[in-house]
Amino acid sequence: MEILKIVIIGAGIAGLATALALKDRGAEVLVVDKNGGLETRGAALTLWSNGTYACKKLHVLEEVLEHSAILSKGNIYSSRGKQLESLPIDYSTPTVGIPRYELLRILADRLSEGTIKWNKKIRCLTETEVEFEDGTSVEADLVIAADGIHSTVRSQFIHDSLRYSGYTSWRGIANTKLSSPYEGVMTQFWGNGVRFGFLPLIDGKTYWFMTANAKEKATERDDVLKFIGSLPKPADAIFEGQDHSQIIHLDIYDRRPIPKWSFGNALLLGDSAHPMTPSLGQGACMALEDAVIFSACYASSKSIQQIYDEFEAIRIPRVNAVVQLSRRIGMVGQIQQPLLARLRDRIYPLVPRKWKKRIWDELYGFIKI
Ligand SMILES: Cc1cc2nc3c(=O)[nH]c(=O)nc-3n(C[C@H](O)[C@H](O)[C@H](O)COP(=O)(O)OP(=O)(O)OC[C@H]3O[C@@H](n4cnc5c(N)ncnc54)[C@H](O)[C@@H]3O)c2cc1C
Repeated sequence: MEILKIVIIGAGIAGLATALALKDRGAEVLVVDKNGGLETRGAALTLWSNGTYACKKLHVLEEVLEHSAILSKGNIYSSRGKQLESLPIDYSTPTVGIPRYELLRILADRLSEGTIKWNKKIRCLTETEVEFEDGTSVEADLVIAADGIHSTVRSQFIHDSLRYSGYTSWRGIANTKLSSPYEGVMTQFWGNGVRFGFLPLIDGKTYWFMTANAKEKATERDDVLKFIGSLPKPADAIFEGQDHSQIIHLDIYDRRPIPKWSFGNALLLGDSAHPMTPSLGQGACMALEDAVIFSACYASSKSIQQIYDEFEAIRIPRVNAVVQLSRRIGMVGQIQQPLLARLRDRIYPLVPRKWKKRIWDELYGFIKI
């Protein structure tokens, strides 16, 4: 195939990982982003085995592990302390907690000088060009729109809206070192309309998150403080180590899955294609998988249409199923009615392990890349 001019819109996890994967295949890529530099906010991420496996394929796993806490278990409890789930994390690559900025930096540092152009806010695509708000434009044969959940490119082709999940979220990185029995463990507590979770990061820090049922746009950052007294015990210590001004508050949305991510010479990828609720901690993992698989399709296909067809055939069934599963897990986790929540706490542990294992193996043990 002739050498293509590839433009990636968005220097988030999806855009940077795709640029790196394509660079490894010998492609020349330009990444543009509306911001002036890498996003420094965003607290941290759980990278499940499928995400770290994609990092291995991107040749960044070693560095990712240097900046991560490796998790030995994933436990979900009811608010009364009954164990509801023990998540499997023993696949071929580990499950880790990593500050989001570190992952972005690791990916960006591997790109050649000048690959990323900052302060380039895209206005729209034409058949042959990407046009920016500053009046400039660049030619492109192939455009990857990795511009996130509020994607400008997506809105040019699809007129859908965000789906509010019914709950809001808070998260942060606390200067608190977890002690036994939470050391090295991803822990979640599910209460009535509330979930609280935390996991270790390196350097004695803890990443925590909380979700609560709420009307859309009806809560504020400091509302999380009202919950502390009612949360399970480690919450006190975690919040003691948290700079309150650094807490991130966000209403949670996804979008209804769509059957097609390519439009002309443009392909949606990462959150612009498949934004999901964070209940499975899979959005970034899926973006990393997208990057690896897109580059494999790029290397093996003869035309842009073929690349897109192959990519969509592999990715859409898997990722759209994860979007829906994440939404459903969130609904179960956020059950508010006390009787229903107690019923959930009774039934959840009774679901046969082998049924759940099949789902988890498919999700976390994904090694078809
Ligand atoms: C509360 C919460 C917790 C989460 N936890 C996890 C987790 O533990 N594990 C996990 O795997 N995932 C998690 N996720 C999901 C994960 O954060 C996202 O799926 C991931 O960041 C998506 O990356 P992206 O690159 O597609 O989009 P983004 O990170 O949104 O990046 C988009 C980029 O595009 C740029 N951009 C946007 N518009 C334009 C424009 N018009 N012109 C130019 N540039 C533009 C932006 O500046 C940005 O840099 C979580 C999400 C939330 C909300």
